[in-house]
Amino acid sequence: MSIRIGSGVDFHQLVIGRDLWIGVVKIQHEKGALGHSDADVLLHAICDALLGALALGDIGFHFPDTDPAYKNIDSKKLLQHTFNLIKTKGYSIINIDSTLCLQAPKISPYISSMQKTIASILSLAEGDVSIKATTTEKLGFVGREEGVVAYATVLLENTK
Ligand SMILES: [Zn+2]
Repeated sequence: MSIRIGSGVDFHQLVIGRDLWIGVVKIQHEKGALGHSDADVLLHAICDALLGALALGDIGFHFPDTDPAYKNIDSKKLLQHTFNLIKTKGYSIINIDSTLCLQAPKISPYISSMQKTIASILSLAEGDVSIKATTTEKLGFVGREEGVVAYATVLLENTK
């Protein structure tokens, strides 16, 4: 059996007048994430981790933000496309661990719903999709509520 590890990180600015989509869940907040797509920071970090595990480049290479096809796209589609790529290479996912960094709002009420949706897209059990959340104790751009960060680590196994 061949196993591969991958890591991903993503950042988005938080601005007034945008929706805040994280982990395919719309979060109630006065600010939202700025980006070419729906700017779902968690899904982007997971996509990058999946691509990274197989050295397939990064999300910007596969889904360029200069391409109008990806304007305001639902990031769930990017994750589905990335997962298909992984499957085509003969791999499936063992588990995902991730961490969200944002000062506000509280993410804990949304985590179970994020886990369910991500697990269903990636043919995983909810227990295989870990999502943790932390503030930065008001430090830096996250602490000033100017941005949001997500980190993801994935483990893949060759199933062929
Ligand atoms: Zn992103």
